[in-house]
Amino acid sequence: MENDQGIGSVIALEKLIELQKLESESSDLRRKVAKAPEQLEALAQKLQAAFAVVEEAESHITDSSKQRRQLEGEVEAFRGKLSHYKSQLMEVKTNEAYQAMLHEISYVEQQIVAKEDEILGQMLEADELKVNLEGAKALYAEEKERIEAERREVEAFIEKSNARLAELENAVEQVKSEVPEEFMSRYQRIARARDGVAMAVVVDHSCGACHVRLRPQLLAEIRSNRQVVLCENCSRILYFVHS
Ligand SMILES: [Zn+2]
Repeated sequence: MENDQGIGSVIALEKLIELQKLESESSDLRRKVAKAPEQLEALAQKLQAAFAVVEEAESHITDSSKQRRQLEGEVEAFRGKLSHYKSQLMEVKTNEAYQAMLHEISYVEQQIVAKEDEILGQMLEADELKVNLEGAKALYAEEKERIEAERREVEAFIEKSNARLAELENAVEQVKSEVPEEFMSRYQRIARARDGVAMAVVVDHSCGACHVRLRPQLLAEIRSNRQVVLCENCSRILYFVHS
């Protein structure tokens, strides 16, 4: 392990700490922004699902009125049959045929009553379906408002984050230009190997990143703040936060 002595490393260390903060904020933000399209897609699907309930309620009404028209057609047909039988009744010659015709007429009349009952039941059901549709529409309107508010929130977050990312990018470039090349290349080498995190704060005599306990000698070196000290376990650059 090489240590860099001198005042240059103190300044470099401060700059590297600052750089790490900027880069960590930037990568956190990028991760969150990358999730935004997925969130927007989930919201769109939620809205679609809410609308599907309205469409289903509408299709029940369509089915119901189709069924009603069918029943009305059937009643119409029975009525036609009935008037046909009644007109024939005058023309039958035998008592047997007359009785058979009366039997037919009674059967058709029963059918008409049954169908009309069915239509009545259907009308009641249709009223219920209309109430259901109104309920579904009201729920959809509420849900839509909620989902759109969430969507606007996500979009505002993206916009705000992109502005912040541009700021961070400028700040990163500025700080990088202030760090001596040898420190910068060391920082970048560690950052590349350690998921973008080259710096580790000392917490309770341990490395804040890998949590390995640090030797007293190493702690003293870090505390003196005059040199760049690497964690012997994870190789990150260690620093103290002086309160
Ligand atoms: Zn470590």
